[in-house]
Amino acid sequence: MSNQSIVELGQKYVMNTYGRLPMALVKGEGARVWDADGKEYLDFVGGLAVNSLGHCHPKVTAAIREQAGKLVHCSNLYWIEPQVKLAQLLVEHSCMDKVFFANSGAEANEGAIKLARKYAKLHYGEKKYEIITMHQSFHGRTLATLTATAQEKFHKGYAPLPEGFKYVPFNDFKALAEAVSDKTCAIMLEPIQGEGGVNEADPGYLDNVKELCQEKGLLLIFDEVQCGIGRTGKLFAYEHFGVEPDIMTLAKALGGGVAIGALLAKEEVAAAFQPGDHASTFGGNPLATAAGVAALDTILKDGVLAKAEEAGAYLKEKLLALKEQYGFIKEVRGKGLILGMELTIPGAGIVSKCLEAGLLINCTNNTVLRFLPPLIITKAEIDEAVGILTQALDQV
Ligand SMILES: *Cc1c(COP(=O)(O)O)cnc(C)c1O
Repeated sequence: MSNQSIVELGQKYVMNTYGRLPMALVKGEGARVWDADGKEYLDFVGGLAVNSLGHCHPKVTAAIREQAGKLVHCSNLYWIEPQVKLAQLLVEHSCMDKVFFANSGAEANEGAIKLARKYAKLHYGEKKYEIITMHQSFHGRTLATLTATAQEKFHKGYAPLPEGFKYVPFNDFKALAEAVSDKTCAIMLEPIQGEGGVNEADPGYLDNVKELCQEKGLLLIFDEVQCGIGRTGKLFAYEHFGVEPDIMTLAKALGGGVAIGALLAKEEVAAAFQPGDHASTFGGNPLATAAGVAALDTILKDGVLAKAEEAGAYLKEKLLALKEQYGFIKEVRGKGLILGMELTIPGAGIVSKCLEAGLLINCTNNTVLRFLPPLIITKAEIDEAVGILTQALDQV
């Protein structure tokens, strides 16, 4: 099928929830993808931080093929070998002790909210259930996670929203400390906000937040759905800040492209969940977790983190050089390979110019160009992308 016929069918049969670009991707390899008309693109969107090893990484593809021929799904009524292995890998390489598997970031965060409330009820009684989250955050699209998402535009039309969330500006410690009450049970945040425009926690902020949590008996929840699994050049973003959460959520890159989510917690917190308290039919299924084991193993073994850190520094340096040339570039920020370029103008036009010239980039929060290439991106590919971006900026 051609781009045009896929687009027409989609417009007829698929719900109109995305402002989609008028083409269909049908094939990918490494940092490159092809549309239905055979046009090639350099992919600096990476399925929105999902395809961290690039497209069709041989180790991930082999693991999916092998598992598909063995067992795709059973049920969590039984133990699942790749699920247990993925849990072991995650625990051995993080500050966490136990894992619950889900199928998406929203579902992982939904679990985090439930776990925090359950823990608080067990330890402090019925009245402690409120969770404080940050302006410009993004935690998902289920009713609870969109309510946790402190951005008005995601709430509109869905009232009544669940009770028990309070919002404060990110990086404003005073506002956070003042917002804590007897009702507060947890503080939930992304160490680096993705969807909200690649906003990093300020130095020292997370130390203060952690101290506040310890003082007031609050759980600290880090949503690392986007910034985790090597995206920042370290396996988890919290490692950059030297602050350990009590609960952490993962998804996007965890399955090497296959849908998966995970909720991790320290032993004492995880113990609040007992049989029957939480579940998911597909969560941690053999196929997704086999892909996850292959992806995580590759990221940990093949020097991928060090390469991502180096490639990220290289790309950031190039983007900073562009900031010197173009007055409408306000700021370049981010760590590793989650980088944002904030403009003083809307970014959509630049995204379409890049698309035409064979580069996929994303614009979030209207004015922030977001770069999420695979962790295995090469300097030559970065040079090529920056060349296309420069031409697009010239046409503004
Ligand atoms: C994408 C994202 C989510 C939601 O994940 P889904 O898999 O789309 O449900 C949650 N939190 C963060 C930080 C994200 O970037």
